[in-house]
Amino acid sequence: MERGDPISMPKRYDHSEDEVNWQTLWEEWGIHRFKSEDRTSPTYSIDTPPPYPSGEFHMGNALNWCYFDFVARYKRMRGFNVHFPQGWDCHGLPTEVRAETTYKVRKRDLPVAEFKDLCIRLTSEYIEKMKKAMKMMGYSIDWNLEYKTMDPNYYRLTQLSFILLFKSGYMYRGEHPVNWCPRCETAIAEAEVEYVESKGSLSYIRFKTEDGHLVIATTRPELLPACVAVAVNPDDERYREHVGKRIEVPVFKRRVEILADEGVDPNFGTGVVMVCTYGDKTDVKWQKKYKLPSVRAISEDGHMTEEAGRYRGLTVKECQEAILTDLQREGFVEKSEKIERNVGTCWRCHTAVEIISRLQWFMKTKDMTDDVVNWTNKITWVPEFAKHRMIDWATSLDWDWVISRQRVFATPIPVWYCSRCGENIIPEEEWLPVDPRFQKPKVESCPRCGCKDFVGESDVMDTWMDSSITCAVHAGWPGNLESFKRLFPADLQPNGLDIIRTWDYYLMVRHLALFKHAPYKAMLINGMVRGADGRMMHKSYGNYVEATEAISKYGADSLRQWAAGGAATGQDIPFRWSDVEHARRFLTKLWNASRFAIANLGEYDRTTEEVELQVLDRWLLSRLEKVTKEVTEAFENFQFNVALDSVRDFTWHVFCDQYLEAVKHRLYSSGIGERSSRIGAEYVLYRSILRILQLLAPICPHVTESIYQRLKPSTESPRSIHLTRWPSLKQELIDEEVEEKGDVLVAVISEIRREKSKRQVSMRAPIKHLRIYAEENERKMLEDNVETVKRTCNIGSVSIQPLDDKSVGTSIQEYANIKIRLEL
Ligand SMILES: [Zn+2]
Ligand SMILES: [Zn+2]
Repeated sequence: MERGDPISMPKRYDHSEDEVNWQTLWEEWGIHRFKSEDRTSPTYSIDTPPPYPSGEFHMGNALNWCYFDFVARYKRMRGFNVHFPQGWDCHGLPTEVRAETTYKVRKRDLPVAEFKDLCIRLTSEYIEKMKKAMKMMGYSIDWNLEYKTMDPNYYRLTQLSFILLFKSGYMYRGEHPVNWCPRCETAIAEAEVEYVESKGSLSYIRFKTEDGHLVIATTRPELLPACVAVAVNPDDERYREHVGKRIEVPVFKRRVEILADEGVDPNFGTGVVMVCTYGDKTDVKWQKKYKLPSVRAISEDGHMTEEAGRYRGLTVKECQEAILTDLQREGFVEKSEKIERNVGTCWRCHTAVEIISRLQWFMKTKDMTDDVVNWTNKITWVPEFAKHRMIDWATSLDWDWVISRQRVFATPIPVWYCSRCGENIIPEEEWLPVDPRFQKPKVESCPRCGCKDFVGESDVMDTWMDSSITCAVHAGWPGNLESFKRLFPADLQPNGLDIIRTWDYYLMVRHLALFKHAPYKAMLINGMVRGADGRMMHKSYGNYVEATEAISKYGADSLRQWAAGGAATGQDIPFRWSDVEHARRFLTKLWNASRFAIANLGEYDRTTEEVELQVLDRWLLSRLEKVTKEVTEAFENFQFNVALDSVRDFTWHVFCDQYLEAVKHRLYSSGIGERSSRIGAEYVLYRSILRILQLLAPICPHVTESIYQRLKPSTESPRSIHLTRWPSLKQELIDEEVEEKGDVLVAVISEIRREKSKRQVSMRAPIKHLRIYAEENERKMLEDNVETVKRTCNIGSVSIQPLDDKSVGTSIQEYANIKIRLEL
């Protein structure tokens, strides 16, 4: 490819062929690889959230990864040895649910190993699909650093971290009420409970007292069999005399105590409430506080237990209806009213969660709150407000993190129990990975009682247990200490606003517990993608667009511009096709301008002559330095929209519309005396195009590479635009005086064009005479550069006169003290 050969630069930019071409070459050249042997360059590590392999790469993903990639590409150009891995968070409920629907099976009907294989198969297919979309976006991921949490060599580390945390007292097994999804039949953490407004009915039910009755309003009559007490507020005059006495639960005829507790809201219902095991978290608190019995009326699959007597076997909903009917028939219901209430639901299947007590494994996270808050405050958060999400979440948690799940496709909890004395048998590090569901422990007998019989734990780990050690794993833990020192903590932890309370929080507690240090130095948070209608982008809303669809239509570089420019960092960002179209128009403009310039670059770099720069040249060079400064600062602060706006605005309006138009005549000139002027323009064109390409390269990596390959003067130039060094600021080129002069000049030139278009004459049409009226200061500037104006606008003669009341012409926008008049 020879520079300046117009054949090698097609008239139209075709993204479809071009983008794939560069993606393949970059991979071949290995320019995104982390160089572990490089001990001199500073490292920059980005710990990105491993996505669930869902098979789809939606706009939210596209936005996430664009942010990661802008940073990765920018930092590489700044000379950093960038560590940009890609992982897959394979385990978890979503995959199990999808495997069930895809293969039309129920996991309970299949042997564990068989169902697990189906999950692995499905996950691998999905990973390939998503990987393809990621490659189409041009993300500069180092694919040598790819990992999958379902691989034994990854989950070995998850298990190792469990063992270490068990030994240091952070992991414990105990019976405590947890949030439970009866549909998924598993415990879920608080972070996985989604609260939704739901319509329900509030029934006012009579409870018999010794000498009458009290009325209790409840939305959950099906919990009557689990009612273990009744509570009132101690300051509530209405019920004071009842406190300490007993009351009879209707239908079940159990007599329970009436307690007084400040937590009762006297204004809700009648001011008397049931304490059930367990309707909500308050019940959990009171059951402990007053040492009440615990009655398990609802089973793990959402049916009533034998505790519910004749309602046994009904679903929760069926039971609710049946009990209400019976209560009504027996005259216990005073009235019912419709209400809106907040119901906790499973984040995955949206079934209402129950609170169920069962033996579970927990990580002792509640005691870590102060530590989490301290470290959160020490870290840089972009945007700053995201920090408060983390702090609010950490301080709002009531319970420890329940890390056991009753599922199949997940990292096994590496524990066996002695069948006689219940002792925990924890594996040695060398045994890992283990699956106690299928394997026996490598010990002869229980160290406590000598029993030779063990039961393997059948529960598995919460999927966040896998992904919340990524920072350490990427850094080389536990084997590579030297690498760990260099790469831990991660320089950047970028992710969406929606996973602060899960991923960012779990990363924090895991690493604090394991290493006594936060896992990341800076957080970069992106907002959520909304549809064109302003609602969250979701398939069920009909506003969903798959990233690959936009790439096929407009190219990755256009979609990447949408991601950069659609909103300020951390704000929600609407997906609008018009933004992507606008982005493509910009690329066309850049392509055409570069094509013209490159075809005219001639010989500036093949001559040893001193380049002679004119006012407009120095004006552009000064502006170029300023835009470089702006864009650099914007990237340093992760303000991608500011970076893109500056470089786009400069390219489009300053470079293309003003400078390029003003120097065309110099490029075409062939006279001997004009040689120096021509070479000066060539020099500035080359410099500015190269600079624009560099500033734009992190956001539009393909088109900038494509132009760079045609622009680069020699084979000794860096092989790729992405291997060039980010331009350092040349303060000496910034010249306010020259900028002022240049601004006046381009203002006059654009006013002449506007005037021509107003009079509907061709831009090339000659002007006989141009009269300029201006104040002394501006007159001086213009007099020195009259030739430029004449040549640029094809003007016969120019006269410059003082501005007075009699001056006739149009005023130049922004310069009230200059008027011009054209004589055609
Ligand atoms: Zn569920
Ligand atoms: Zn034992």
